[in-house]
Amino acid sequence: MRRPLVAGNWKMHGTRASVAELIKGLRHLALPSGVEVAVFPPCLHITQVMTGLEGKSIAVGAQNCAVEPVQGALTGEIASSQLADAGCSLVLVGHSERRLILGERDEMVSRKFAAAQSCGLVPVLCVGETLEQREAGKTIEVVGRQLGSIIEELGVGAFVQAVVAYEPVWAIGTGLTASPEQAQEVHAAIRAQLAAENGEVARGVRILYGGSVKAANAVELFRMPDIDGGLIGGASLNADEFGAICRAA
Ligand code: 13P
Repeated sequence: MRRPLVAGNWKMHGTRASVAELIKGLRHLALPSGVEVAVFPPCLHITQVMTGLEGKSIAVGAQNCAVEPVQGALTGEIASSQLADAGCSLVLVGHSERRLILGERDEMVSRKFAAAQSCGLVPVLCVGETLEQREAGKTIEVVGRQLGSIIEELGVGAFVQAVVAYEPVWAIGTGLTASPEQAQEVHAAIRAQLAAENGEVARGVRILYGGSVKAANAVELFRMPDIDGGLIGGASLNADEFGAICRAA
């Protein structure tokens, strides 16, 4: 049985004051024990969140890591070893905003994935197609390529300690959600691609859905057999809404 994971990606949001408010809200939440919950604040606020959530079973992750796992001369980047030292247990890799706005390619994403794992962090590999790619009937091909590049570089065994997040780009921050059937189709394809290499790994890996998830649509998405939780953007900035999504998983 896969334990559902609900993760809040705060993206580039927050001030010390607003983060303090959000921590207060999260601390008050009644969270279901069968669900793993994590938040991904901006790096600047990781220590504040870690301290603020002490004793609460919410894991803290980072939104990005450097391609190199160890600290060194790489201005502006943060190494996985530094994230682990700060208490992070997870890190997002390959979020579409980084792929599309910052030009991160598959090769870079797989180096980050490997760097994270070498420091004991669990990478959350984000994959997803643009609207143009979906309309051209290329969804499975695009997602398959993004996933396949990690399998090729690191082997399917890398997914024993990893999470996959399917986030259709057209559904991110747009209020447009993939229907449960649309999401399930892609999740099943991701699992099948992993199963072609190793059935046991495929059965164990958690595949999250992300893209305009709210309390109002979470139940029907999380009900699908291959959807094991969510990666939540905007709605994770509101503690009560985020708590309701966690309870839907
Ligand atoms: P929204 O939930 O704001 O659509 O963002 C999804 C996302 O990109 C999470 O990583």
